[in-house]
Amino acid sequence: MFLCRVLNKVIIFSAPSGSGKTTVVNHLLKTIPELGFSISATTRKPRENELNGREYHFLELEDFESKIERNEFLEHEEVYSGIFYGTLNSEIERLWKEGKTVVFDVDVVGGLNIKKKFGSQALSVFLRPPSIDILMERLRKRSTEVEHQLQMRIEKAQFELQFEKQYDMVLINDKLEDTLQKAEEIVRNFIAS
Ligand code: ADP
Ligand code: 5GP
Repeated sequence: MFLCRVLNKVIIFSAPSGSGKTTVVNHLLKTIPELGFSISATTRKPRENELNGREYHFLELEDFESKIERNEFLEHEEVYSGIFYGTLNSEIERLWKEGKTVVFDVDVVGGLNIKKKFGSQALSVFLRPPSIDILMERLRKRSTEVEHQLQMRIEKAQFELQFEKQYDMVLINDKLEDTLQKAEEIVRNFIAS
């Protein structure tokens, strides 16, 4: 009998905050039905347009810490001072059970940790803004952070940009239309591989 066992796959999108991960990942989820989004847990407060259980599982710090103790995270990190984010093992199990390729939108260090765990099962994509000035401009225009949070994100961005060489692919997010098209191509090729 010919047994066709599809390898469970994951795709990681990482980049400094404001580089366009959410924009790209949302587009891919709309256009490629084989994909499923890994909903992370975080201790940050929801933004106006965010819903608990859709963008994130928004947790109090004590709940987040209990999950760490129970080994419920594949990886977790204090991405910004006092603000924690983590990938839940249960998300990956849920999506693989549904036959989906899992998509992660995680920070640069988290992305590398996930790649290390999954090896060739994973494709890691670093989304790079055309310049740090453009990144700052996009973050300011998004208007989701107050000034001190914005400064934290920009400072961290300078550090994160050093990691792109450790990713399988780098995608420069200049003209959005081109980025979305290239991202779709990369993901479809990986799913078919
Ligand atoms: P991230 O999820 O990486 O923090 P977002 O997807 O929220 O980034 O993008 C940051 C802001 O930049 C958003 O307001 C988004 O609409 C905008 N943006 C994303 N890509 C582009 C692009 N190529 N050109 C101009 N603006 C963009
Ligand atoms: P934001 O607060 O803008 O939604 O996300 C801030 C940063 O945290 C982004 O770089 C985002 O990709 C990252 N992030 C979101 N979820 C996770 C996660 O589960 N693990 C890690 N390491 N980073 C995450």
